[in-house]
Amino acid sequence: MHVVAVPCLQDNYAYLVIEEGRAAVVDPSEAAPIEAALAREGVTLAAIWATHHHHDHVGGIKGLVAAHPGIDVIASTTDAAKVPHVTRTVNDGDEVAFGNLRAKIIHNPAHTLGGITFLIEGCAFTGDTLFGAGCGRLFEGDAAMMHASLSKLAALPADTRVYFGHEYTASNLRFAAAVEPDNAAVARRARELTTPSTPSTLRDEHATNPFLRSTEPAVIAAARAHGATSDDPVSVFAAIRAWKDSFK
Ligand code: ZN
Ligand code: FE
Repeated sequence: MHVVAVPCLQDNYAYLVIEEGRAAVVDPSEAAPIEAALAREGVTLAAIWATHHHHDHVGGIKGLVAAHPGIDVIASTTDAAKVPHVTRTVNDGDEVAFGNLRAKIIHNPAHTLGGITFLIEGCAFTGDTLFGAGCGRLFEGDAAMMHASLSKLAALPADTRVYFGHEYTASNLRFAAAVEPDNAAVARRARELTTPSTPSTLRDEHATNPFLRSTEPAVIAAARAHGATSDDPVSVFAAIRAWKDSFK
């Protein structure tokens, strides 16, 4: 299996997951770049995997289904009503067969209530839940819900590759440096960053992503200076997330 990142729109990534001449596409925001990537790779589209219902992740589904009738379209039960042409809905812990491989579904509510990660062969397609050095905004859930969703991802093996939905890593690292000015791993990651920055590894995220570091003394101190009223990880996470919403 290998993965091809397909830049779409301004800063979105769709991904081709390729196995034995067949591709599943994660989060096709538009059809044309996906068709071009399928042709370049010489592979047949077999499935569409939607991490959540936002238009910048599902906007290409209509065109792809029209051009490739009969393909599977997978979305979570909770988001499916807002995703076009869904053929199968999935829940936490479900498995989706892809050739001889299996993708495991991890439910990650908060950015949307039906947000899911597809985990296959050590690759996690996290949509807008976990970004390089950041996390998604809380559009449909609260801080406790997002903290729980991120904690499920953080528990995966450290060498898990993280394929996120947007190229936000450079600006996320500027915020990470504001949260932890003395974090050498953040400084190094910013210095060595190349675009595209996808995938990262969970190891990188543990070392640099302030949203996975709610128990670090420096992150707790920064959160306390930005409204956290206790050292509780959810309170720390909530204060950091709220700070990021207005960070320039
Ligand atoms: Zn989104
Ligand atoms: Fe998005």
